Amino acid sequence: MKDKIKERKKEISRRIKEEISLITSKIKRAPVLLSVKIGEDPSSDVYRKSLFRLGQKLGIEVVLREGDEAQGKKLIEEGNRDNGIDGIIVHCLRENLLYFTQLLAPEKDVEGLSPWNLGKLIRGEDALYPATPLSVLEILDLLKFDPVGKRALIIGRSLIVGKPLFLLLLRRHATITVAHSKTRNLKELALNSELIVVAAGRAGLLKPDMVREGTLVIDVGINVVKGEIKGDVDPAVGEKAILTPVPGGVGTFTSYMLFSNLIKSMRRKIEGETGNSAI
Ligand code: NDP
Repeated sequence: MKDKIKERKKEISRRIKEEISLITSKIKRAPVLLSVKIGEDPSSDVYRKSLFRLGQKLGIEVVLREGDEAQGKKLIEEGNRDNGIDGIIVHCLRENLLYFTQLLAPEKDVEGLSPWNLGKLIRGEDALYPATPLSVLEILDLLKFDPVGKRALIIGRSLIVGKPLFLLLLRRHATITVAHSKTRNLKELALNSELIVVAAGRAGLLKPDMVREGTLVIDVGINVVKGEIKGDVDPAVGEKAILTPVPGGVGTFTSYMLFSNLIKSMRRKIEGETGNSAI
């Protein structure tokens, strides 16, 4: 599976580069993504650096800025008004996420977390959707897994993964259960599922006795345990189920999905699309 994922990554990268070069020749400059880090959020440093490097490879300028809460708000508001900024991503503590993402101009909200974009998602309308759930869909497509009518379990209900993924899978006609920390019968639910997506931030949460033979298990988790990256799924699950690797699974696509959102938004602006097509 790792090889298939790598191959798809190359394809996506090629496609993005082509689109970027078209956009760059039209607007006579490279697309610009503003990354705003607000307050202390050391966990985002590695991600921001990797976005910067990937941007360089793809032909996107990633501008890194940071400040305290008041400065962060100002940076977002200036970025919203600045025609030279095409997209904005906010890195902040989880408890501040709702506040800062509601400040974002919807067309620059490449993470798809503003009330407008999330509202569009609930309404079944085209919009910028959160990158990690889009990466999960990418894996489903890659493995030719059709969710129509399937029993799916999402473990985790965060704003950035579980909730938007629920809506995206619903649109693909899956029958979905969302589990969280108060769920009592996780093993029973998991055993009854044909697709399980784990995004709980708990290393090794899903164990082999919780899955049936042949279930597709998508591991979104990224946990650092004794200096090593571990998923939310016990690797032994892979002996029974079809399991996506960590690292080298969902995370492979996340930054690419973010940049795809940037392109989508820029294309709309250039072509003057309204983005109102109901799905
Ligand atoms: P959050 O901490 O925001 O949410 C975790 C969710 O899991 C919560 O809904 C929580 O429930 C639920 N949960 C926690 N423990 C359990 C449990 N024992 N049983 C069932 N549910 C549980 O995390 P994120 O959604 O931001 O991230 C989840 C994981 O995905 C992390 O490891 C993160 O690093 C990773 N991640 C990976 C990305 C990628 O690109 N691969 C991108 C983004 C995140 P409750 O709501 O009740 O607290």
